[in-house]
Amino acid sequence: MRKLAAGNWKMNGLTPALDELEALSKSHANAGVGVLVCPPATLIAPAKARISDAIALGGQDCHAEASGAHTGDISAQMLKDAGADYVILGHSERREDHGETDEDVRVKAKTALAAGLTVIICVGETLEERDAANTLDIIGGQLAGSIPDNVTGHTLVVAYEPIWAIGTGKIPSLNEIGEVHDFIRSRLERRFGAGVGRSTPLLYGGSVKPGNAAEIFGVSNVDGALVGGASLSAADFGPIIDALAES
Ligand code: PEP
Repeated sequence: MRKLAAGNWKMNGLTPALDELEALSKSHANAGVGVLVCPPATLIAPAKARISDAIALGGQDCHAEASGAHTGDISAQMLKDAGADYVILGHSERREDHGETDEDVRVKAKTALAAGLTVIICVGETLEERDAANTLDIIGGQLAGSIPDNVTGHTLVVAYEPIWAIGTGKIPSLNEIGEVHDFIRSRLERRFGAGVGRSTPLLYGGSVKPGNAAEIFGVSNVDGALVGGASLSAADFGPIIDALAES
């Protein structure tokens, strides 16, 4: 099982922010777990030039088509060309802000896989859906609709991100996280077989901080985290990586 600490900088970060990345690449040159940072697309190529291979880089979205007349969009091949090995797809902010559906995410994932990227597919429920005891139905539907058929355990990562936990400081109970991660693992095994199902890293995302990372990484079938706010500074992201390495 690959453990992975992934940072999502969202629409944050200008050139001076690369100092944080360089500091992280020096302090965690031998982290013992996978470390990935997804900065804004504008910083991928300059980041690649400044950091060692110990830290992988990823995009935060890509277009469904490989190239063409789509002003302002970015293609999977462009991300790869700039130095990315991963792309986050179907983040709840993309689903909300841009109306992305499961089918949109699946088509983008196919294009990203064809460009040689590993896809991080995000799934997660709203608070209303959790309160109505619909969480597993929602997650099951998102998994079925968003993940293409041609993934392997090396080209797929799934991130469970309860929407109500993103950027709020709230997290589900450890039992609730475990229930969803066990469910995701069983759905992947059922659809793709034990090999792919068991080797796909499952990340928890939503208000992961240095203070709660260790207990979250102790939950069954949690293989890492997708970290937003706390990934912006090496002082916060570093201890999260360390907690994963010690788990
Ligand atoms: C995210 O953006 O995917 C995320 C989990 O954000 P935060 O860690 O800030 O809640």
